Amino acid sequence: MSSNGEVWFLTGSQGLYGPETLDQVASQSREIAAQLDASLDADVVWQPVLTTAEQILDICRRASSTPGVLGVITWMHTFSPAKMWIAGLDALRAPLLHLHTQHNVELPWAEIDMDFMNLNQAAHGDREFGFIETRLGVPRKTVAGHVSNPAVVRRIDTWVRAARGYSAMRNLKLARFGDNMRDVAVTEGDKVEAQLRFGVSVNTYGVNDLVAVVDQIGDEEIDKLVSEYSDIYEISPELLSGGDRHESLRYGARIELGLRQFLTEGGFKAFTSNFEDLGGLRQLPGLAVQRLMADGYGFGGEGDWKTSVLVHTLKAMAPGGATSFMEDYTYDLTPGNEVILGAHMLEVCPSIASGTPKLEIHPLGIGGREDPVRLVFDAAPGPAIVLGLADLGERFRLVANEIEVVPPTAPLPRLPVARAVWKPAPSLETSAECWLTAGGPHHTVLSSSVGAEELADLAEMAGTELLVIDSATTSRSFTKEVRWNQAYHRLARGFR
Ligand code: MN
Repeated sequence: MSSNGEVWFLTGSQGLYGPETLDQVASQSREIAAQLDASLDADVVWQPVLTTAEQILDICRRASSTPGVLGVITWMHTFSPAKMWIAGLDALRAPLLHLHTQHNVELPWAEIDMDFMNLNQAAHGDREFGFIETRLGVPRKTVAGHVSNPAVVRRIDTWVRAARGYSAMRNLKLARFGDNMRDVAVTEGDKVEAQLRFGVSVNTYGVNDLVAVVDQIGDEEIDKLVSEYSDIYEISPELLSGGDRHESLRYGARIELGLRQFLTEGGFKAFTSNFEDLGGLRQLPGLAVQRLMADGYGFGGEGDWKTSVLVHTLKAMAPGGATSFMEDYTYDLTPGNEVILGAHMLEVCPSIASGTPKLEIHPLGIGGREDPVRLVFDAAPGPAIVLGLADLGERFRLVANEIEVVPPTAPLPRLPVARAVWKPAPSLETSAECWLTAGGPHHTVLSSSVGAEELADLAEMAGTELLVIDSATTSRSFTKEVRWNQAYHRLARGFR
């Protein structure tokens, strides 16, 4: 098993064709699987051609229970009578991509005989399969086209990334240090439903459990980490060795080491903090959170476990990519150049930075602790998305907005936190009207490494509503979509 995970390639056919044709089906589907294996960031594992209901049920069960299998791709090379697929598809728990393709690109018009027609009939074989998928209500992505077409491979690759995120979510353990910020509504949510729907387990630890680990970190480890900081960041002179705030930097490093140890020992890949509940921590964790996010950990401020889950999930979809916890903070409403300034108290991931982050210390007017150390930077310009997760009481709703991160209109010399400035599609007014209509949260994930199609694939896998605000969105159509979705999701869920 590759660390990148496996995608099983399942080819449907039937026994009627005889061994000669089935051998051709096998060799041609091996070719298609090999082409995908060479183009996708996962091991595409070809499986023997399926011709009976028993084989299909067996492979669907194994794909659902084998660790490291991200999902299955199905292709009906020939005609595979779809009642054979009922038990298998009903048992399948792994994400499904239905690839509607064929071996040849062009038809050999002059040579076509009935043998050729007999062998190359995905055009109707896949329609039979599409019917049974729809009849059974199987969640899936359907991709049509030849695998030599880069656009087809890109759409499959998108699904692989979504499946990787989904797998990370299903195996995620999240540690909350303290509960929610008092009285905040949108960061609340149903953790039982989240565990059923997304697989994530969310549990709270007393912040002093963390403090006990932080306090035990040795000086040598701190020396080493502080010297690592000076290799990577531009450090404010007062924080350097001999500077009068150096001790604060050492304490920031101590928090990072303690937090990392706590999360590693517990197998946690995501966490939350709450500035109202810092126990014996002398600083609100800023630098530590930023650096852990850069290593792929999920994070949400003020106890926001839902956004923390999303941060880790999107980071798993695009490892090493530019993805951060974010919060819509304030607007520039200058007509024609409306932008959102996003930031947080401290905790923005340096993976989205443009240039070298600066390691600085400033007072924090909230929380009543010592001044925290933090990385300060502007986010790199370019296309990106923001994604939020709200709990509507009866279900979860994902809301996404396509955005363009832009350089700040002017330098921000007095703003002591990392920040991103962006133009939301289709305009700030429509974006904000739609976001508010959807009840989207103020905490989000910002990513330039994941796009709307990955999010749609992920939402399909997780059986969760996704509303996307993009360049084609109008407030009127979006409001209707929200209403229709409400009816659809209530009906689709049924009674329990
Ligand atoms: Mn916040």
